[in-house]
Amino acid sequence: MSNVTRRSLLAGSAAAALAARPALAGAEAPAANKATPGIYRYKIGSYELTALYDGIWYRPITDRFIRNAPFAEVEQALDQAFMPHDKLATPFTTLIVNTGKKLALLDTGTGGQIAPSAGVLRNNLAAAGIDPKAVDQIVISHFHPDHINGIKDKDNALIFPNAELMVPAPEWAYWMDDANLNAAPADLKITFLNQRRIFSDIAKQVTQFQPGKEVAPGVVTLPAPGHTPGHTVFAIHSGDQSLLVLSDTAQHPAIFARHPDWQAAFDIDGAQAIATRKKIFDRAAADRMLVTGYHFPFPACGHLIKTATGYEHVPIEWQPTL
Ligand SMILES: [Zn+2]
Repeated sequence: MSNVTRRSLLAGSAAAALAARPALAGAEAPAANKATPGIYRYKIGSYELTALYDGIWYRPITDRFIRNAPFAEVEQALDQAFMPHDKLATPFTTLIVNTGKKLALLDTGTGGQIAPSAGVLRNNLAAAGIDPKAVDQIVISHFHPDHINGIKDKDNALIFPNAELMVPAPEWAYWMDDANLNAAPADLKITFLNQRRIFSDIAKQVTQFQPGKEVAPGVVTLPAPGHTPGHTVFAIHSGDQSLLVLSDTAQHPAIFARHPDWQAAFDIDGAQAIATRKKIFDRAAADRMLVTGYHFPFPACGHLIKTATGYEHVPIEWQPTL
């Protein structure tokens, strides 16, 4: 083959390739027009955990959002967290713990009853291959609506019909007391009434536990009062591995880990919430514990480090294998 011929052949194949490319590039890829599932699976010892995203609420806030800091400082923190000044980014991540014998769900999400941008837990359960009927146990950290509303759908039917429902005894004692309901300011009354909607007709099916108790093998509850009187965190132990489930010890870490001294308007006892937060975060940072937070960005799992002024959340790396 002469050089000329070879060149013209190469030119010809290049031309053919070029001719083919527009056809490939021009093939229309229709937009999926839907989000991908929010699921992340990892292991603690032999236990298989599935973080399930329930979505996000952009919670309206005012200049009274933090009780003990000037709003200018709060605005600066919101800027640093890439949040607007009038809304707190509040994502929701629930956790399924499969001990091999039991399937436990820690907190239940919003049940689609908080914000239109939340309520995708059931889709993500399906995407994770978990049948709500297979959940044996629900363990609740506290009685705020974003943690208990997913017990029932908006028509009052149980979403996890076979699950034993376990709640912290001091949480039940505080919120289900009608004297506390009657004494509450109007906006907090809504919270009390919502709890009655969820629990009143299933009260006999509810098991109360004392924080400190192990509610399933390797699932230990720990008292963490302040955010609410019976607010509870969980430690999951299997083999030589552990995970600390922080519940609402801090809400979004870009605000509350960085500013652990801030009392949010939604904390029942702000001073106690701060003491609890520092005690738990100090331990997690010193022991380099793996932690997950209900309102941390998905998959909500990582570590806490201590900084000069507070703490910083360092997210885990997404592992493609278990
Ligand atoms: Zn919450």
